[in-house]
Amino acid sequence: MSIFKLAELLIFPTFCKLCTTLLDGEEEKVVCNSCLKKLTPSYSSCCVCCGRFFSSPVEPHICKQCLEQKPPYSLHRSCGFYDGELKDILLLFKYKGFRSLGKDLILFAINVMGEKHFLWQEMDVIIPVPLHPSRQRQRGFNQSKILAHELAKLKKIKIESRILIKIKNKPPQTSLDAKTRRRNLIGAFQVKNKSAIKGKTVLLVDDVFTTGATLAECSKTILKAGAKSVSALTLAQA
Ligand SMILES: [Zn+2]
Ligand SMILES: [Zn+2]
Repeated sequence: MSIFKLAELLIFPTFCKLCTTLLDGEEEKVVCNSCLKKLTPSYSSCCVCCGRFFSSPVEPHICKQCLEQKPPYSLHRSCGFYDGELKDILLLFKYKGFRSLGKDLILFAINVMGEKHFLWQEMDVIIPVPLHPSRQRQRGFNQSKILAHELAKLKKIKIESRILIKIKNKPPQTSLDAKTRRRNLIGAFQVKNKSAIKGKTVLLVDDVFTTGATLAECSKTILKAGAKSVSALTLAQA
């Protein structure tokens, strides 16, 4: 242990926000390494298109919803279910302001998907799902932007975090059904600099996937602005 770490432990001891053990590892900041190791990927197979996990073990295939109406994005993948440690850590990250957890979450995502996953092999540019400016002011930061920056750094992909903006601010969508969510989001996003994504393959990054309405509307907006294709990554699926 370094002398600095020792001094820090003596003067400002900090404890894991999940299990309350003393954080004494050099890299441990908010959550201890053993809690981070408990992050579990989903072992369920998922729709090869929209990435929704299937409830029973089946061969990967295209789900009914995608067969009826193909989403505007080519492919989406989530890392795990929105429960257990993954949910706890996402809540600490998003609502308690522990931004450093963004890197831990992205390391988990790369680990789950694999170093050579299509999502980072073929992408020209990463774009985070934006928050409306007034929501971002309230929260102090955009959680998806932090995730996108960490991914861009680790996978050496260009990031454009300012060109997709949210121009319509509707109340939180969590309690609404899928149809209403989709309707509320029509025209909610705008691309500010079309030339930055013209002909490009885009990877959208967000924290949680619920009905897919946000990813669909962002993708539509990006495709309309001239991008070649859009794929998406989310940390968890509710
Ligand atoms: Zn812990
Ligand atoms: Zn599907």
